[in-house]
Amino acid sequence: MKTIDDLDVSGRRVFVRADLNVPLDGGTITDDGRIRAALPTITRLAEAGAKVIVASHLGRPKGSPDPRFSLAPVAGRLGELLGQDVAFASDTVGESAASTVAALAGGQVAVLENLRFNAGETSKDDAERAAFADRLAALADLYVGDGFGAVHRRHASVHDLPARLPHAAGELIATEVGVLRRLTDDVSRPYAVVLGGAKVSDKLGVIEHLLERADRILIGGGMAYTFLKAQGHEVGSSLLQEDQIPAVQGYLKRAEERGVEFVLPVDVVAAAEFPDLGAKTATDPVIVAADAIPAELMGLDIGPRSRELYAARLADAATVFWNGPMGVFEHPDYAEGTRTVAQALTDSSAFTVVGGGDSAAAVRILGFDEKAFGHISTGGGASLEYLEGKTLPGLAALED
Ligand code: ADP
Ligand code: MG
Repeated sequence: MKTIDDLDVSGRRVFVRADLNVPLDGGTITDDGRIRAALPTITRLAEAGAKVIVASHLGRPKGSPDPRFSLAPVAGRLGELLGQDVAFASDTVGESAASTVAALAGGQVAVLENLRFNAGETSKDDAERAAFADRLAALADLYVGDGFGAVHRRHASVHDLPARLPHAAGELIATEVGVLRRLTDDVSRPYAVVLGGAKVSDKLGVIEHLLERADRILIGGGMAYTFLKAQGHEVGSSLLQEDQIPAVQGYLKRAEERGVEFVLPVDVVAAAEFPDLGAKTATDPVIVAADAIPAELMGLDIGPRSRELYAARLADAATVFWNGPMGVFEHPDYAEGTRTVAQALTDSSAFTVVGGGDSAAAVRILGFDEKAFGHISTGGGASLEYLEGKTLPGLAALED
């Protein structure tokens, strides 16, 4: 994959496909993390004298302009973070975009309006996407792909546009791909994978792919109960995906054949009801053995003996990938399992990676310093698809 170093950008129009899909409350950005993550590439290009054209999607508008999803606030915040004026085009491939780009001098930055205001961006019809990509290509001389959170989408600006311009990967994509390689092809061992979250079915592909690569797989969260049931234990009213039991039994068998250690909870924190996450009032949890969950209780977190076990199985790892909370961390009575895993990762000298939107949020909500982790991925969906072994359209497009 080429990088910015391979492009001669000075004085040229460079289209940067970023992921500036930030959460908005009205017109106010509530978390500017994704804008910050795009800064290294934009700064680098501007300092090298490029005319920088930044484009992104935001939210899910229906293929036509919708002011609720305007990138105007993002352009404003980007200007503040860069400490320089950022121009804003009020369309994507219309007159405003053309004149805004024409007015750019080397070192200046412009943001285009939301790419999804044009139906061609997300169209399943190749010709419709191609037509939009042609018009985007006319705005620029070079393409830099840096929207890691969108690389698993076969969208015009991600997949079709790079085929039309000399292209390279930006800093963020180069970093994320470098991390993913260290979790798949170029792994330091022992390699431990911690998977949790609500549903096994969301993570089946990841389990299958990492089963061939990891030394240990620790399972927590709601998906643990399908594993416990697959081993013949009753799980009360815990989250259960009956239809996944055969697949899970297959994984347990494969793991045994390959000498991969599966670590399941030995005890769980359970309650009669799912907690009220809004009120966060104290509940009445009990600790029960994982092979003796009473019929009327549901498991909502891994228990204290499991926490000790998981911390111990992480302590000597050289690589750890973590996706999915160990329990219903949104409620303080069920956050200890997730806290223990986060603590084990921050205490560890291993290369530690957190993937997944809720896991990354849990790390922040529980008060951990994000810098204490090796890497927190900016693209949950994209990194999971990579770890499933899938070809990502936005990375494939940058390959050749
Ligand atoms: P990520 O976004 O990190 O990939 P998921 O979306 O798969 O994670 O799962 C996160 C959700 O799983 C959280 O909202 C959490 O409350 C829920 N969860 C964790 N453990 C349980 C459990 N035992 N029962 C029900 N839900 C759970
Ligand atoms: Mg999630």
